[in-house]
Amino acid sequence: MQILHTVPEIVAFRKAAQAAGKTIGLVPTMGALHEGHITLMRAARAACDVVIASVFVNPVQFGPHEDFDKYPRTFAADCEKLEAAGVDAVFHPEPADMYPEGYCTYVNVEGDIVHKLCGAQRPGHFRGVATVVTKLINLSGADEAYFGQKDAQQVVVVRRFVEDLNLPVHINMVPIVREPEGLARSSRNRYLSPAEKTAALVLFRSLKKARAAFDNGERDTSKLKQIVRDELATEKLAVIDYVELNAFPSLKPLPVVNQDALLAIAVKIGKTRLIDNIILEAR
Ligand code: AMP
Repeated sequence: MQILHTVPEIVAFRKAAQAAGKTIGLVPTMGALHEGHITLMRAARAACDVVIASVFVNPVQFGPHEDFDKYPRTFAADCEKLEAAGVDAVFHPEPADMYPEGYCTYVNVEGDIVHKLCGAQRPGHFRGVATVVTKLINLSGADEAYFGQKDAQQVVVVRRFVEDLNLPVHINMVPIVREPEGLARSSRNRYLSPAEKTAALVLFRSLKKARAAFDNGERDTSKLKQIVRDELATEKLAVIDYVELNAFPSLKPLPVVNQDALLAIAVKIGKTRLIDNIILEAR
């Protein structure tokens, strides 16, 4: 596996792959890799000739009071996992490689899809995501790029600007990988104490309760959201950021679930903010 640190290095790598007529798969990550990330690598490995992973904690998508400084950085361990997953190259730039002095261009997706859910809680977050993902798509020359349903709103936003900017890449969404007890795998899970980790099981439990009601015929959005809120309220360490149920993928409001819908939650367990979601499929 090649380790590419700079812009010229990744450009040379992808030009060689393109000259050899190879298809390129890109998996953007912020590192601290776990089984969720590795599932994206496997999906890329199965579909593309060349797989490029990026490991970059992107400063532009963090708010001033968020966890950029303390975000876990475990590059040596990440490389072992990427190599084992058959990744061909990892792009691991420094912030100054991506945003050198004088940098002043940003991709700003407008409209409701960036203002609700995580966008409401994290202003500027999707501007940072859209900017870095655009740069990574350009640098890697990716034909296919892989994102997790874990960040379903991110997939919606990425698909939007890829279409709007005519970027010649196909965006794939990979299902959420969970721990055996149901907690969605996340780099931020390592912030949780053992007691908090047990408390965090309430996220998926609450979503499963709503899914059971939905499967029994409940279609009223307010009632489905209330089921989630009631279950989250049983866990005293859980503080709700949001519980939202919107049409998927438009993210438009939906009083009654008569089309595919995203039930998404953000919950603080202690100081750690966790997100999870399920897609309710209207048949
Ligand atoms: P991150 O490193 O947190 O930015 O995540 C990089 C990519 O991995 C994103 O597309 C995430 O949605 C995806 N991802 C993170 N956790 C999971 C998970 N538990 N299951 C599937 N994909 C995930």
